[in-house]
Amino acid sequence: MHVVRPKDPVVGRVVASQPCLNGRSASFVRHVAIDVSGTDLAGSFRVGQAFGVIPPGEDHRGKPHSVRLYSLACPSHGEDGEGNVLSTTVKRVIDEYTPQEHDEEQDAHHLFVGVCSNYLCDLKIGDEVLVSGPAGKRFLLPADPSRHDYLFISTGTGIAPYYGMIRELLQGPEGTCSSRIELVAGAPYTTDLIYDDVFQELAAAHDNFTYHPVVSRSDIRREYVDRYIERNLDDSFRDFLEDPRTLIYMCGLEGMESGLYRVLARHGLSDGYMDVREPLTLEGHESWETADMKRNVKAGPRCLVEVY
Ligand code: NAP
Repeated sequence: MHVVRPKDPVVGRVVASQPCLNGRSASFVRHVAIDVSGTDLAGSFRVGQAFGVIPPGEDHRGKPHSVRLYSLACPSHGEDGEGNVLSTTVKRVIDEYTPQEHDEEQDAHHLFVGVCSNYLCDLKIGDEVLVSGPAGKRFLLPADPSRHDYLFISTGTGIAPYYGMIRELLQGPEGTCSSRIELVAGAPYTTDLIYDDVFQELAAAHDNFTYHPVVSRSDIRREYVDRYIERNLDDSFRDFLEDPRTLIYMCGLEGMESGLYRVLARHGLSDGYMDVREPLTLEGHESWETADMKRNVKAGPRCLVEVY
């Protein structure tokens, strides 16, 4: 970790920037690849980690912008197979401003354009960018990936690390891993499914990989990832979750974590995936409040979580 510190970043160069949504979405999401060859970052990152980007300019207090962390979307061997090109999945933050401090005008609601996400998305091939990292030591693949099977669950851009992990497992330098891999990817509409075409192709080519897109605002079925897993428990997921080889990974919005823990508790599948602390008890799961769960229900050793 922290081979390159944000205070002393290295210069990377953008080598690819492509939209990664199909069709017309209201969002803009790009896959941005950065060449860091010749720097200390080259070859020193692992899939599941994040790297830092330092945008140019100053914040509203006149201080240089601070580092922003982005999940790696590439395998550990990079986009180039040599660990020289890292990548991430960037969604442009475009919103209405919400006052952050008491002394601000409380009805301020002007257009807010995220500093770093739009900087990264605007960069062109050949542009330089200051980068640091890597960061993160838990949300990783196991040392011997073949000893486990994987339930990867994402919401929105939380899919970024799985884009790297699944390509590493299925197409890595050590050949195809035969572990079972299930990807449950949540998005508002089908047009918001990120890397959808690549996952469809990988699923068609590999019998051990299944891709489950889940949309929350469809006219046909509105569903969250946790509810999708529950609805398909007996067809797809119960035996899989009961198998001691299985690891669960969650990445994306915070709310998905408590949603999944509730499903696991309801169906007697919590073993190894979650630790319930006093005053909550597993038996009392029906009456768990979400705020209490944040304090007292934690990921167990078979569950890896990166949520914001
Ligand atoms: P998005 O496109 O808005 O998609 C999020 C999806 O999750 C929507 O379908 C949403 O449904 C659904 N959802 C909302 N609440 C949920 C809940 N409680 N349980 C299950 N699903 C739920 O997402 P986004 O804008 O990309 O945001 C993704 C989030 O992931 C961001 O907060 C980002 O910071 C985080 N992230 C974290 C990491 C990391 O930790 N390394 C990496 C990448 C992204 P509705 O909107 O229809 O309710």
